[in-house]
Amino acid sequence: MCYEQYIHDEKTYRNIVRRVWTEILEWGRKNMRIYPWRSTQDAYKLIIAEIMLHRTKADQVKDLYELFIKKYPDFKSIVKAGPENIKSELHSLGLPWRSDLLYRMAEEVVKKYDGTLPLNRMKLMELPGVGHYIASAVLCFGYNLPEPVLDTNTVRVIGRVFGIKITDSSRRSKKFEKIVSDLVTCGEPRSFSLSLIDFAAMICIPGNNPECEICPLRGICCFYGKRGDMNEG
Ligand code: SF4
Repeated sequence: MCYEQYIHDEKTYRNIVRRVWTEILEWGRKNMRIYPWRSTQDAYKLIIAEIMLHRTKADQVKDLYELFIKKYPDFKSIVKAGPENIKSELHSLGLPWRSDLLYRMAEEVVKKYDGTLPLNRMKLMELPGVGHYIASAVLCFGYNLPEPVLDTNTVRVIGRVFGIKITDSSRRSKKFEKIVSDLVTCGEPRSFSLSLIDFAAMICIPGNNPECEICPLRGICCFYGKRGDMNEG
């Protein structure tokens, strides 16, 4: 049974959501990957990690992240260093615009909030370089708030499990946002969201061959039920 069939049956929908939440969290307890930015709930460190991770693989970021955090432990130290130094620190990751955004963000956080990130989605999103994803990541990973963290990978898992067609705009779709909000509201938003990210990277991988045979969700997964004849256009 897929989303369109049970969306009007609240009890069934809630049961599926609960089951997905339980299985993903349980899977994450055994398999979650370890990265330096996952051992902190410091919003500054988390936002630095998210900026570095943009379109860049975690293994590429790891060492630089640790060096950067050591050298620049807060927004004030970034501002003090000046834009050119920050640019050369991040040079090896490519995407030079991200060092400009980071510098401008640091200036604004220091000017408006004395160097401490605001605990508010709208205020976060007013900062240079902060969109929906980064704001959600800071609130969810930093403050354990039930904020839906939607990217192309988490959307892929949700789309497959619930049988919803995935498109380029799914990350901004209210339907996906509601399902992920309902999932994180079940509890442990930080652990659940990190587990979902890793599950998307290791089990429900992109392409035609997700690891369905070892997947704990196959009993309720719409994609598995239909054996891949859904269109991921
Ligand atoms: S059964 Fe397959 S498609 Fe469904 S969630 Fe698991 S890995 Fe993804």
